[in-house]
Amino acid sequence: MNSNPYYDTWDRHNSIAISANKGLRNAPGENNCFVNSAVQVFWHLDVFRRSYRRLNGHTCMGNSCIFCALKIIFTQFQYSDQKSLHPDALRKALAETFANQQRFQLGHMDDAAECFENILRRIHFHIANDCEEDTCNAPHCLPHQKFAMQVVDQVICPCGATSNPLKFHEMVHYISSSALVAQARAMHETGDMLHPERFGLLLRNASTQGDVRDCPGNCGGKKVPIRRTLMNCPDVVSIGLVWECDHPTVEMTTEVARNIGTTILLQDVFHSVMKDEKTLPKLHLVGLVCYYGKHYSTFLFHSKQKVWIYFDDATVREIGPRWENVVEKCGKGRYQPLLLIYANPNANPVHVDTAPRKKVMAQGFTSGKSI
Ligand SMILES: [Zn+2]
Ligand SMILES: [Zn+2]
Ligand SMILES: [Zn+2]
Repeated sequence: MNSNPYYDTWDRHNSIAISANKGLRNAPGENNCFVNSAVQVFWHLDVFRRSYRRLNGHTCMGNSCIFCALKIIFTQFQYSDQKSLHPDALRKALAETFANQQRFQLGHMDDAAECFENILRRIHFHIANDCEEDTCNAPHCLPHQKFAMQVVDQVICPCGATSNPLKFHEMVHYISSSALVAQARAMHETGDMLHPERFGLLLRNASTQGDVRDCPGNCGGKKVPIRRTLMNCPDVVSIGLVWECDHPTVEMTTEVARNIGTTILLQDVFHSVMKDEKTLPKLHLVGLVCYYGKHYSTFLFHSKQKVWIYFDDATVREIGPRWENVVEKCGKGRYQPLLLIYANPNANPVHVDTAPRKKVMAQGFTSGKSI
């Protein structure tokens, strides 16, 4: 028996057999792969699945409701006996919600990391829209409680002058893949052997490298680095890798994949943290979204089966128990690592005491049956 009180029916189902891992369909011309990658990440992230299970009341947008559409897919993941599912409801809800921005439209290709991030932002809207996005502290807000990094950036010059602190939320932290490789090489050359658990240091150096400002005072300093402080303690940290070129060499994609660490400490990713370092969890790499030839696919670590699984739309394959198995597969397939997901394995679901109890229709929407 599992003693975890949050072990629920979705989890029981998920642990039955490897065949229980369902793919998501992508017929020619549908270009669903970016949505499929995001959905597989959400479903396989224990803290997301267990929290989402507990959230039901929300501001609903009927047929354009991303909250409902994700519920539909999760219910099918649990109960359907099909090997692969249609992501249609979510695809339509995304297209309608983002029609004005012309993002995520039916049949069009889009970015998997941005889709992942925008779904999180929309979930905030559906369950916690009485809180401003930038200052949301609703205890039940799954995106902001579990995924958002609350960051304060400040320029602090050795002369003592400081800039006004800039506060913001970050759902995905973007880093240049070439800066990551350059930093890894530099650390190798100087003999700074990177401890396997200290990949966060490499991330921090790569993301702040060259990010300098003029002194906020009058000392004339030109290359004052920015210091980043983490104010909260997210259970999931998502790192987006930005690629400068569309067709990187195999050597480049392999070098990036090889340098990805499987554990990060939050006190390494930031210059300082507000929480007691001893209480901060170690975050483990549990997901990787890749890109190759205008196509996204995803590797996810199954927390019960202790194995990496590869999801390429309707195709589901077991890769192996070790991260090295994934790196090897990336090399062979020339996959560009695009989105890394690190999670606290001991994360608890969100508290739902403050969550909306009922479904309420958003202004201008009706609860029409979806066709
Ligand atoms: Zn809804
Ligand atoms: Zn929120
Ligand atoms: Zn100065």
